[in-house]
Amino acid sequence: MTTKRDFYEILGVSKEAGEEELKKAYRALALKFHPDRNSGDEEAAQKFKEAAEAYAVLSDSDKRHRYDRYGHAGLEGMGLPDFGNAQNIFDFVGDLFDGFFGGGGRRSRGPQAGDDLLYRLEIDLFQAAKGCKKSLSFARKETCPDCSGTGCRKGTRPATCRQCHGQGVVLLNQGFFRVQQVCRGCGGRRTIVTDPCTGCLGKGRVQAKRVVDVSIPAGAFHGMQLALRGEGEAGEAGAPRGDLIVETLVREHELFRREGDHLICQVPITFSQAALGGEIEIPTLDGAIAQKIKPGVQAGEVVRVPGKGMPNIRSRRTGDLVVVLTVETPRNLTKRQEELLREMAEIDKSHVSPERTGFFEKLKSLFAGAEESGKTREHHGQ
Ligand SMILES: [Zn+2]
Ligand SMILES: [Zn+2]
Repeated sequence: MTTKRDFYEILGVSKEAGEEELKKAYRALALKFHPDRNSGDEEAAQKFKEAAEAYAVLSDSDKRHRYDRYGHAGLEGMGLPDFGNAQNIFDFVGDLFDGFFGGGGRRSRGPQAGDDLLYRLEIDLFQAAKGCKKSLSFARKETCPDCSGTGCRKGTRPATCRQCHGQGVVLLNQGFFRVQQVCRGCGGRRTIVTDPCTGCLGKGRVQAKRVVDVSIPAGAFHGMQLALRGEGEAGEAGAPRGDLIVETLVREHELFRREGDHLICQVPITFSQAALGGEIEIPTLDGAIAQKIKPGVQAGEVVRVPGKGMPNIRSRRTGDLVVVLTVETPRNLTKRQEELLREMAEIDKSHVSPERTGFFEKLKSLFAGAEESGKTREHHGQ
C-alpha cells in the first residue's frame, strides 16, 4: 500500500488538472497500455491497471479531495473498484470511451446501424440561387421483405451460437487479465443463421432501387452537405437506418462567378459607350436589366447592383451583383467609323487629357532619373 505511486504522477498531470485534462491523459495511457495492443506484456498490463486506478480516484471529486489531503491512506474503505480483473476496468470506463476499446471492452456488439450514404448532386447556379426540388434515384440496402431482416428462411429461427453459447462474447486470457472479446462465430449477435432466407441469402438485407425527394434550399453552395435522417442504408434487424448525405456540386456558370454571396460578371461595352455613358443591358439571374453608366468610364471599372447576387442560406440576405466593365477597342471599322476616329485622333493631338499629361510627366522624370544615375555610375567607374 505504501509503495503506491502518486496518482498525478501516474497520469502525468499537475495537481490542478481539470476534468478534461485528466480524461485526456488517462485516455492516452489506456490506449498505449491496452491489453489488445500489448498481448502478454505483464508490465503494460500493470500500467493499464495503475492508470485506471489513478483515474478512478481523480475523476471522482470526493475521492480526489480525500487523496489530496491524506494521500493513499485517505482512500481506505472508500470502496474502490477491484481492478485486478481487466473486465472491471472496461466496465468502469466503458461509457467514457465508447467505441474506443474496440472488441476488448464491449459486452456484445448488438445489431449494427445502417451506413450513411453520400449522394453528390450536381445543380446549376440558377438552381443554387432559387433552391430546387430533386428526385434522387439510387440503390440502397433495405430490410429483406422475405425474412424481415432475420436472415432465416420462412418458418425457421436462428440458432444459438455454439462458440459463445449465446453470450455474444468470449473470455480470453491475456497476461493475468481475463479479457472479453466479441465472439467471432456470431460477430456478437448471439445467434447464427442455419437455414438462410433465399431472398437475401441470410444477410437480412437486400439491395434495392430507391427514389428520394430532396429540397435544396436557396443559397446552396458548392460542397454543401444536407443530411436526410434515416434515408441511408437499412440497419440490421432492430437497428436504425443510416442517413443520406446530399452534397451539392454547383456547376460553373459561363457568365457569373460566385464570391461568397456576391456574383461577379464581366460586361463588355463599346468604346463610345465608355466615352459617352448611357444605358447598358446587364445580365442578372432574374434576366437582363438596364443599368445607367456615367460618361468617361474606364476599362475595369466596377458597377455594383445591390440585391442581385446570391441569397445567403442562413441570413436570407442577398449579395450584390458586381459588374466589371470591359471596354472593347473597335475593330473591323466601316469607312465612316474610320473617318470619324481619324478626325478624333487629330483633336486628341491638340487636346491632351489631364491623365495623359500626368503620365507623360512621370515618364519624362523616369528617363531623367536614369540619365542621372547613369552619369553617377560613370563617375564612380573613373
Ligand atoms: Zn431475407
Ligand atoms: Zn457467438
